[in-house]
Amino acid sequence: MLNPEFKKENFKKELRDAVRLLFRTTLEDASAHQVYQAVCYVVKDVIIDDWMKTQQVMKEQKPKIVYYMSMEFLTGRYLGNNLLALTAYDEVKKALDELGIDLNAVEDEERDPALGNGGLGRLAACFLDSLSTLGYAAYGCGIRYHYGMFAQKIKDGYQVETPDNWLKDGAYPFELKRPEYAKEIRFGGYVEADYDEKTGRTFFHQKGYQSVLAVPYDLPVVGYNNHVVNTLRIWDAEAINDFSLDSFDKGDYRKAVEQENLARTITEVLYPNDNHMAGKELRLKQQYFFVSATIQTAIKKFEKYGLDIHKLPEKVCFHMNDTHPTLAVPELMRILLDEKKLEWDEAWAITTQCCAYTNHTIMAEALEKWPIELFSRLLPRIYQIVEEINRRFCERVRRQYPNQENKIASMAIIYDGRVRMANMAIVGGFSVNGVAQLHTEILEKRELHDFYEMMPEKFSNKTNGITQRRFLLHGNPLLAKWVTDHVGKDWITDLPRISGLKVYADDEKAQAEFMNIKYQNKVRLAKYIQEHNGIEVDPRSIFDVQVKRLHEYKRQLLNILHVMYLYNKIKEHPEMPFYPRTFIFGAKASAGYERAKMIIKLINSVADVINHDASIKNKIKIVFIEDYRVSNAELIFSAADVSEQISTASKEASGTSNMKFMLNGALTLGTMDGANVEIVQEVGEENAFIFGLSAEEVIRYERDGGYDPMQYFNNDPDIRQVLMQLINGMYSNGDMNLFRDIYNSLLYPQNGNRADVYFILADFKSYAAAQERVEAKYRNEEAWAKSAMLNTACSGKFSSDRTIQQYVDDIWKCDRIVVK
Ligand SMILES: *Cc1c(COP(=O)(O)O)cnc(C)c1O
Repeated sequence: MLNPEFKKENFKKELRDAVRLLFRTTLEDASAHQVYQAVCYVVKDVIIDDWMKTQQVMKEQKPKIVYYMSMEFLTGRYLGNNLLALTAYDEVKKALDELGIDLNAVEDEERDPALGNGGLGRLAACFLDSLSTLGYAAYGCGIRYHYGMFAQKIKDGYQVETPDNWLKDGAYPFELKRPEYAKEIRFGGYVEADYDEKTGRTFFHQKGYQSVLAVPYDLPVVGYNNHVVNTLRIWDAEAINDFSLDSFDKGDYRKAVEQENLARTITEVLYPNDNHMAGKELRLKQQYFFVSATIQTAIKKFEKYGLDIHKLPEKVCFHMNDTHPTLAVPELMRILLDEKKLEWDEAWAITTQCCAYTNHTIMAEALEKWPIELFSRLLPRIYQIVEEINRRFCERVRRQYPNQENKIASMAIIYDGRVRMANMAIVGGFSVNGVAQLHTEILEKRELHDFYEMMPEKFSNKTNGITQRRFLLHGNPLLAKWVTDHVGKDWITDLPRISGLKVYADDEKAQAEFMNIKYQNKVRLAKYIQEHNGIEVDPRSIFDVQVKRLHEYKRQLLNILHVMYLYNKIKEHPEMPFYPRTFIFGAKASAGYERAKMIIKLINSVADVINHDASIKNKIKIVFIEDYRVSNAELIFSAADVSEQISTASKEASGTSNMKFMLNGALTLGTMDGANVEIVQEVGEENAFIFGLSAEEVIRYERDGGYDPMQYFNNDPDIRQVLMQLINGMYSNGDMNLFRDIYNSLLYPQNGNRADVYFILADFKSYAAAQERVEAKYRNEEAWAKSAMLNTACSGKFSSDRTIQQYVDDIWKCDRIVVK
């Protein structure tokens, strides 16, 4: 049922009109970027109709709405995805072909909106895609950072961060500014108590504050072939001019300037930290800014339903993606108490039925704890409310656990001079979920055990997922078509259907076709690498890929140390059989994370030496792909043979790139960590390469001590050789100090940390052995093809459609809408 707007001839006419209207030029004279903008314009015209219809249906049906609150949405580019969702991609491609325009080139004109760091933001984007496709009413709520994730350049092997000015061409084609829904957000000042004679209650007013205006920009989230268009609402800050100043402050020039500055800074830039709390005041401002704007909007919208405020939980769910939006709890309380004039117990009953929280990590450095001084100065009324929530909760804990102050120590919301956001999210919500079975188990048994014991009914697991529409249908068109030819097209909205491929696993023709598609995708990536890195790689070599944020726990260092080890072996035994390998890395390091940046330098330095050593006859190539992001990720997943998922067991809550690789027929080389455990459950251990310490072993070492990396250094000559090469100048033009910090971190305790915190030396030999199994299997073409195809065939569980359905069934209980 192709929309008539997209019928070839009609589309061509619309496009010519758009170019004329927008740029006063002709299609022939238009620049590539103008053509792109015009195509978006035509597409947007169709989307707008469905978007309005969706809003109309929401008005009539009054469904329960999910507000998915996330500081990050890593959506990737819109154009291609929207065309696919509208089932117009092929027809538009043909129309453009006839005009001599390449749709791929048009898509390449779009910048990635990089409003996220990595997995957490990408998960939020996959979730929105699934919510629309499954037909649930939802808003994604976030921040319109003017500068998203920095663009990464590699200069002389080092990461250089350059600003990502994604809005520099003016507005983003698919976004729509909605000034009519702007909200005022207040910071600072003090709280005045006001006794009300009539009710006998004391009410509180924030005074002497600064405020900014939160202005929403809406992006459409187009469901697949179902006319449902939800909204990603990102908030931008604008100065409120004098009208908002209290009469007392009128003419206060300094204050007006401060408010201007606040507005200018608050949405300026995304913090580039992944799994790490920087504790900056501006970050807390960002959090309150988008949370308050979101909750105010949701309540406004709810009030249009004409229902009593006590029914809020029947129509609204606020989902907190990690602890970053936890201020939702006290902010909702504030509105219910101060504006709706409810009593505490009523307000608390409503709040705790509206808020739900997803935990994303157990790593101490990622947990948000805000100093009371900062928190109370910035949000004086909110802090009062948090204190009262904490007072009542601690009372409850002491009643239930008399004389057990350890329970207070672990569960109090305010403790040791800090506000602990995870604790507030757990206490203030009705649901806490982990993101993979293993992660949830660790939360329940260890990290959040006291909470789990006290309120087990709140806890559940929701294993992460990914959208097959971006990561197969869009990212791997050759395989998508082949899958459709074999199992029909229902997999696009029902991924478990892809298991129909299992019957082809032993079919030689199917194997050959499957591996030929992989080869074509490797050629496509090789071309990208040639263009971007100037390195020639052989698409017949094994493409062994690790792409993800650079983090010590993700252990890119283990990977590159192993490459150094292989190089030593090849140099020592030139005649040894060795199947050619291309090691591909892609990773951004947080700008302030020095060791992570040095690991990038190490990877590039090793690449420089090995890629230029003619004596090893191209057996190893190492490529560091600059500026890893959603758009090049799509090229990378489709071309991978080996998926490196080698985090220290217990540290990676779920991972999602592991699922994208699997979907595209790569074999996992990984530890029993995060969702790798479930991937192996689905595909079978014989179709993956598992190695290393278990989560339980790692946790036991951490608790009891007894891990001594020096013993590996002393007893294993291969390990010793590789480590010595970090400090003998081999990869640093003779500089023996360049990589010394990395060397030291593996062998010696460092500022309060154990040596080799991430058990790299403990797992090294087991990793090397797993890598040998990879090579042996790859030499057996049939065995490899079969395993690769089975990975695709068994990936059904990892669709975010499944994840979202579980959130709906167990947590959100929101309503499906139908748009005709
Ligand atoms: C999926 C994805 C991630 C998350 O990768 P992990 O390996 O799960 O950490 C990060 N960045 C981008 C661009 C992604 O597409």
